[in-house]
Amino acid sequence: MQRRDLFRSLSRAAAAIAWQQVFASAGRAQATEVADAGGWSESAEVFTLGVASGEPQPESVVLWTRLAPRPLQADGGVPARALPVQWEVALDGRFNQVVRQGVAVADPAVAHSVHVVAEGLQPGREYFYRFAAGGQHSPVGRTRTAPAPDARVGSLRMALASCQHYEHGHFTAHREIAAADVDLVVFVGDYIYTTEAPRHARQRTHPHVFARDLGERSLADYRIHHASYKLDADLRAAHAAHPWLMVWDDHEVLADYAGDHDPYLTDARAFLAVRAAAYKAYFEHVPVSPHRVPADASMPMQGRFQWGQLADLWLLDTRQHRDAAPCHGVHAPMDGKVLWRCPAAEVPSRTMLGQSQEDWLAEGLAGSMAAWKFIVQTTQMSPGLMHAPLLGDLVYAEGWDAFPAARARLMEAIAQPRVQDVVVLGGDVHRHVAANLRLNPRDASSPIVASEVVTSSISSKGLSELVNAWIKRANPDIVHMRSDERGYVLLDVSPRQVRCEFRGTLHPVKAQSKFRTQARCVIERGVPGVRKA
Ligand code: FE
Ligand code: CA
Repeated sequence: MQRRDLFRSLSRAAAAIAWQQVFASAGRAQATEVADAGGWSESAEVFTLGVASGEPQPESVVLWTRLAPRPLQADGGVPARALPVQWEVALDGRFNQVVRQGVAVADPAVAHSVHVVAEGLQPGREYFYRFAAGGQHSPVGRTRTAPAPDARVGSLRMALASCQHYEHGHFTAHREIAAADVDLVVFVGDYIYTTEAPRHARQRTHPHVFARDLGERSLADYRIHHASYKLDADLRAAHAAHPWLMVWDDHEVLADYAGDHDPYLTDARAFLAVRAAAYKAYFEHVPVSPHRVPADASMPMQGRFQWGQLADLWLLDTRQHRDAAPCHGVHAPMDGKVLWRCPAAEVPSRTMLGQSQEDWLAEGLAGSMAAWKFIVQTTQMSPGLMHAPLLGDLVYAEGWDAFPAARARLMEAIAQPRVQDVVVLGGDVHRHVAANLRLNPRDASSPIVASEVVTSSISSKGLSELVNAWIKRANPDIVHMRSDERGYVLLDVSPRQVRCEFRGTLHPVKAQSKFRTQARCVIERGVPGVRKA
């Protein structure tokens, strides 16, 4: 380790310890000077859902909270009128050096959530923030701005996470992420699950259950469901500790939905009403930019973020514009989870991202000057065929294997000579994966053009190690893969390398589970492909 690196690690460790102390002591300070002590909070705790930040830019960051003294009520226990919420951003966790402050409006139309863009900040800096309403202060959050666009940044550390079925296990991984020395949490979908776990798979019970009939799902259901997830202290801690970048997958709405199609083939208009409710409640509970506020059943999700000259990150929406499953019946066994002998999947026009997002990504990649280009999407991009005895290849219906033409177009864009050092990040498959991505992923003689790192789930159950072995055997480009452990991935990006650390613990995750490093990988700058370290 070089001296400068050592110094940096030490100062970061000191900052992390100081932060833990601040979080413990200043989190619940009662303030007498806080405005609007209008009695509506009736001394119940107002900030039960915590605080969060996200989408860091060089001079701004999004700050989020929601007023909810009764979080398991659809209205949060707040009167149906607009309420003022004060916010402050400071250089220190005790708020002696406040640099920005203002008053936001918590609007009942968005469940009294606020999405404040705190502007006028310094690039590449740590900040602390908090809110005040109903005579109370919120817990203190810590965040960070992105470096200046032209900054020669030496490092970016990220925690990559996805898939947190509440009933399948505890969110203990988030406790570790909260304490980790990272600049960003990148969450790649399945933030909530609306399906109830079968009794045998249930590690803990969730206070809210959706009606079985799709038509009975309401905005109130999705709001209560989101709020009850946020009652998990570990999830709140990970939000309060770091800025997040988020994309969604299917379970934020409904398992296996695609665009405006739901897999149960109910009336499309009825499904769009469900999707509208789900998108709205999602927006209300996550630290995303206010410009993403949904209109009707749509919400703009894709985004591009820059970390100085070191990294560009493209956040992809792989659900809202996705084509429906191509085959049914005998060609879609296991409840449609896999496809078997389904030539319709090969149709060239099939898309996972939609044409305009595909074009936007290809143009962005071609024009990027960043050392590393991260494609942040929701599932595994390298082949994950299951070569089952007698049946032959089974294709995961939700993954890129079911969209071969769309994947080929993306690989073409990545393989352009001036597009180098692309790393695809993903989740969804509930297993840690490191893989090589070839120009033609189905041809072992095709050149490797990019690298892939997929995180296992925070809590959601994975496939058995037996099925895992079938998949591994059928896909030689998988460098590392394990299905029986839950966890997350630490990514350490420097101008010369991306190092990854797969953190894991055996399923199911208990409140006191300990995580260990399951495997490490390295991606060298200028050398597409990933190797075990
Ligand atoms: Fe999942
Ligand atoms: Ca999923």
